[in-house]
Amino acid sequence: MKLIQKIKEATRPFLITGPCSAESPEQVMSVSKEIAKNGNAHVLRAGIWKPRTRPDSFEGMGNVALPWLVEAGKETGLPVTTEIANRQHAELALKAGVDILWIGARTTVNPFAIQEIADFLKGVDIPVMVKNPVNPDLELWIGAFERLEKAGIKELVAIHRGFSVYKHPKYRNVPTWELPIALRERLPDLPIICDPSHITGRRDLLLEVSQKAMDLNFDGLMIETHPDPDKAWSDSAQQVTPTELKSIIDHLVLRSKDISTSIISELEELRTKIGDLDDKLFDILSARMLMSEEVGQLKKAHNITILQQNHWSNIIKSRLSQSENYKISEQFIRQIMDAIHQESIRHQTKIMNK
Ligand code: PEP
Ligand code: MN
Repeated sequence: MKLIQKIKEATRPFLITGPCSAESPEQVMSVSKEIAKNGNAHVLRAGIWKPRTRPDSFEGMGNVALPWLVEAGKETGLPVTTEIANRQHAELALKAGVDILWIGARTTVNPFAIQEIADFLKGVDIPVMVKNPVNPDLELWIGAFERLEKAGIKELVAIHRGFSVYKHPKYRNVPTWELPIALRERLPDLPIICDPSHITGRRDLLLEVSQKAMDLNFDGLMIETHPDPDKAWSDSAQQVTPTELKSIIDHLVLRSKDISTSIISELEELRTKIGDLDDKLFDILSARMLMSEEVGQLKKAHNITILQQNHWSNIIKSRLSQSENYKISEQFIRQIMDAIHQESIRHQTKIMNK
């Protein structure tokens, strides 16, 4: 299996598509044939063992579904991949003839699990794709590649599927693009695939995130595709039909990676980093206003007025005195602090008048 070579030779994006979960032989076969016919798969995917957040959800068909995926691969002439989370999964997948293994986000977080898989794969010639850990920890992600590399795995690929946070307004898993960008700086030869399905959690954002990945020079995309997404047994909101997948791929604008456009991708990387910082800025502002409301509760309970002039004057004075450290003008500090104060008063007033 020459996965890396295939990725390098393919016209971008290299596509790994197929259902979140294998549900029946017919489901796996029909969706695989259609994606293949549309030219929207270089590798077929299907989950056999599903790590689910809560018990009593569908946890995958298990062992019996392995031949369904392998058959679909034979029928379409495409290599197939499935998620493994432990040594036993790896053993069963190899025995069934799965061509490529992938390690899921919930497994990458656990060095014991990764080491167990790496130890089992010693001497086996099979490509392994590693999803980022659920938490934004670059070293942990790199550590997984190191463990597999030490075990002699030669073909390694990264999959960026975003990072888990509590209740994000837009994403299921926030992309935090600076992390895959940093991974590429550290391991420049490692191909990187973006998984917009698990980043967005919703099909209407797949094109936007896929386009971003292409503009950041990702090598490919992993997109969950199902014959009847709304009836899917897992991740139904983010799956698309083969026809919808084709439309997403057809709408991608592919800019070349060569020198003449290097400014574009450099600019895009910078803008992405700025976007990520702005995301953090607003997360902090939002948390700060919730804190103001707690202050409002306390003032209300003790019958104190909202505006405590001395306290506020001191806060402003101390911020202004740090203008040089921040490399931000005093005027700007003043504007920001006034704006924050106004909004904080609005939140506290809301509490007082409840
Ligand atoms: C999946 O690809 O279906 C999956 C479970 O992914 P992740 O490990 O990214 O959650
Ligand atoms: Mn899924």
